[in-house]
Amino acid sequence: MAEKHCPSYYAATVNDHTIYPSLAGEIITDICVVGGGFTGISTALTLAERGFDVVVLEENKVGWGASGRNGGQLINAISGEENLRNSHGQKAEKLIHDIKWRGHEIIKERIKKYNIQCDLKYGFLTTAFKQRHMDDLKREYDYCSAQGLEEHFKLVEEHDIKNYVGTDIYTGGLYSDLDGHLHPLNLCLGEARAAAGLGVRIFEASGVTEIKHGTAPIVKTQGGQVKAQKVVLAGNAYHHLEKKKLSGVLFPAGTYILATEPLSDEIIAEIMPQDIAVCDANEIVDYYRLSADKRMLFGGKCTYSGRDPISIKDTMMPKMLHTFPKLKDVKIDYEWGGMIGITIKRTPHVGRINGNVYYAEGYSGHGVNSTHIISEILSDAITGQMENYDLFVKARKFRLPVPRWVGNQMLALGMLYYRIKDRF
Ligand SMILES: Cc1cc2nc3c(=O)[nH]c(=O)nc-3n(C[C@H](O)[C@H](O)[C@H](O)COP(=O)(O)OP(=O)(O)OC[C@H]3O[C@@H](n4cnc5c(N)ncnc54)[C@H](O)[C@@H]3O)c2cc1C
Repeated sequence: MAEKHCPSYYAATVNDHTIYPSLAGEIITDICVVGGGFTGISTALTLAERGFDVVVLEENKVGWGASGRNGGQLINAISGEENLRNSHGQKAEKLIHDIKWRGHEIIKERIKKYNIQCDLKYGFLTTAFKQRHMDDLKREYDYCSAQGLEEHFKLVEEHDIKNYVGTDIYTGGLYSDLDGHLHPLNLCLGEARAAAGLGVRIFEASGVTEIKHGTAPIVKTQGGQVKAQKVVLAGNAYHHLEKKKLSGVLFPAGTYILATEPLSDEIIAEIMPQDIAVCDANEIVDYYRLSADKRMLFGGKCTYSGRDPISIKDTMMPKMLHTFPKLKDVKIDYEWGGMIGITIKRTPHVGRINGNVYYAEGYSGHGVNSTHIISEILSDAITGQMENYDLFVKARKFRLPVPRWVGNQMLALGMLYYRIKDRF
């Protein structure tokens, strides 16, 4: 049974109410994309811009998964860079440099080109709790300065932190005016509208049940099927297709967000004077920002049990109040969660099955920007430019040869290690 968007602040403030039809009967296309999140929709849009006929099959609604539920933090780069460096040396260095800001560029261009209203704002602070974090942030600052971006970054000392965020818990941070935040569901829906405008046929309530491989694979749903030259699997943490090839690499984890009632100007001036996005430097991060209507959207936690907490509010409230005790009397209007796909080496898992079924998943906590980077790399590969795609495909992977739930328990143990490391 297809589901609606989860009851989040984003779903309550959607500005595009298009309902795409459900697939019925057989259709033929160049490329069939499975999954209507950023990976699927962005790939469809890129390929449509390049003249391909594209069909998107989404089990629920466009933006139903992580893409329509996330913190909306637009953060540069991809996760798992260290693994790319260890896998490819100098070649990885060039790749990392070339793609670091590419997702931001794609999103900015599309917002302008297709007039997508998604509350994009610039300003982002990574916060430190200890010297080790500051050392890492200094390295990032030096890297960006060496790229000529010095004027866009600032190392924030402890005494200066309250000019950015009104709390006593941090020892410093790194500010960037190139990163920022946005309304992810409205971005995803806007990109879908742009894709549909270029002829992409989007079907909702059309979960894929099977892919029949061949020179022209057939993608089956309950109501119909799509015969394509190529298929792109973009179901990330939510799909269960192609288990033989894809199991043991990606592990779904839950993360959760609270949205308060709109805050008063007085409180905002004290706790979020610059309306920026904030994410701490821990392994298991807290991330937060204001919405366009001035709610605190406070996210965090990472669970591997496959079960949501009994009360998201009770789980997240102590985190938010630890950061901002001032918010103790504010009302919580929305609470929700979603699944991210984590790979053990943190590098996105990219490749293809039988030569013509491509997949991309496992952004490991990142995704707003990195899905756009990877969807361009996938689109390049589909059109014959394999260089960057090959670097991802050949990056070292760690496969746990166990069922997903066993792997999740093993990762939960690993995360316990990181939680202890974060604490001390
Ligand atoms: C609560 C939360 C907070 C986050 N915060 C941030 C953040 O602030 N910044 C950031 O960069 N990243 C963040 N992320 C991560 C980011 O949202 C994801 O990495 C990214 O959205 C993944 O996009 P995707 O398109 O690959 O997957 P998804 O958006 O999950 O989309 C997958 C889609 O595939 C569909 N699907 C699955 N199986 C099938 C099937 N069989 N047939 C058809 N369709 C199918 C699903 O219904 C779903 O719509 C967060 C994630 C969550 C959950």
